[in-house]
Amino acid sequence: MTISRRVVLHFPRSLVDQPIMCRLAREFNIDFNILKASVTPKEEGLLVVELTGDAKDYDQGQKYLAQTGVEIQPLSQDVVRNEDRCTHCGACVVLCPTAALIVDPSTRRIDFDNDKCIACGICVTACPPRAMEIRF
Ligand code: SF4
Ligand code: SF4
Repeated sequence: MTISRRVVLHFPRSLVDQPIMCRLAREFNIDFNILKASVTPKEEGLLVVELTGDAKDYDQGQKYLAQTGVEIQPLSQDVVRNEDRCTHCGACVVLCPTAALIVDPSTRRIDFDNDKCIACGICVTACPPRAMEIRF
């Protein structure tokens, strides 16, 4: 049985330049399609990828990623902003790795573009009034 899943991979700074994805393909027969890639302000690497492989290989590949220290997050989560709570303080803007949260130069308010969001969750924990929410 073939499995195909979209996930967010979080690479700690120490692993950003390691050939982890090449090994995943070569040793575990997992195809990967990179949908988005970025580096956070803390220099953590983020990859949004579609991983495809035989179920057994996929399982082994996941274990390999976890053992190397890569955090795997399913992309089935949706991030929304509670407009009543957002104070437009801007704290999230510098943290968002994909510029899904940006300052509108004309109003100085913070715009949220859900299409750019990769559901990394960084803003959810960083937002002082907890305006950013993950929906499952
Ligand atoms: S950190 Fe929270 S309150 Fe501040 S602009 Fe971002 S979403 Fe709004
Ligand atoms: S979860 Fe928040 S920080 Fe992460 S990409 Fe989406 S808007 Fe940006």
